[in-house]
Amino acid sequence: MSTCIFCQIIEGTIPSAKIYEDEHVYAFMDIMPVTKGHVLLIPKKHIENIYDFSEEQAARLFAAAPKIANVLKAEFNPAGMNLLNNNGAPAGQSVFHFHLHFVPRYDETDGFQPTWETKQSKYTPERIQELAAVLRAKLQN
Ligand code: AMP
Ligand code: ZN
Repeated sequence: MSTCIFCQIIEGTIPSAKIYEDEHVYAFMDIMPVTKGHVLLIPKKHIENIYDFSEEQAARLFAAAPKIANVLKAEFNPAGMNLLNNNGAPAGQSVFHFHLHFVPRYDETDGFQPTWETKQSKYTPERIQELAAVLRAKLQN
């Protein structure tokens, strides 16, 4: 038996509130929803984090994402929707089987509070361009 809790959900050895599955992915209600309709979408294969995906595996997972988002939108009529994925403990990952959170948003007091420090950034436009140049060179290789 698998030691991974999400693998056990896929195997059916621990229960889940499944909403969708296909050959490659499985979607179910988060057990501690931060808002109404909080869903997790996971690959059936045990993939720990974003770094471990092949392009094909990533495409298969994200192919299901609009379907999940649209059913939540149609059913719960949220005002918005956050998609979130945590990689590594410092980023907030607590289950080490990749999962994409769908968090329907209703208003600022709905229980979910992402914070972006966009009003004051310590990165100048020049520094941003420098960082982009490094990444661009790596990606074009
Ligand atoms: P993260 O902190 O991004 O790794 O998110 C892990 C998520 O998995 C949390 O939102 C948990 O509430 C959720 N979770 C943990 N165990 C279960 C479970 N057995 N069934 C459904 N969701 C779970
Ligand atoms: Zn797993």
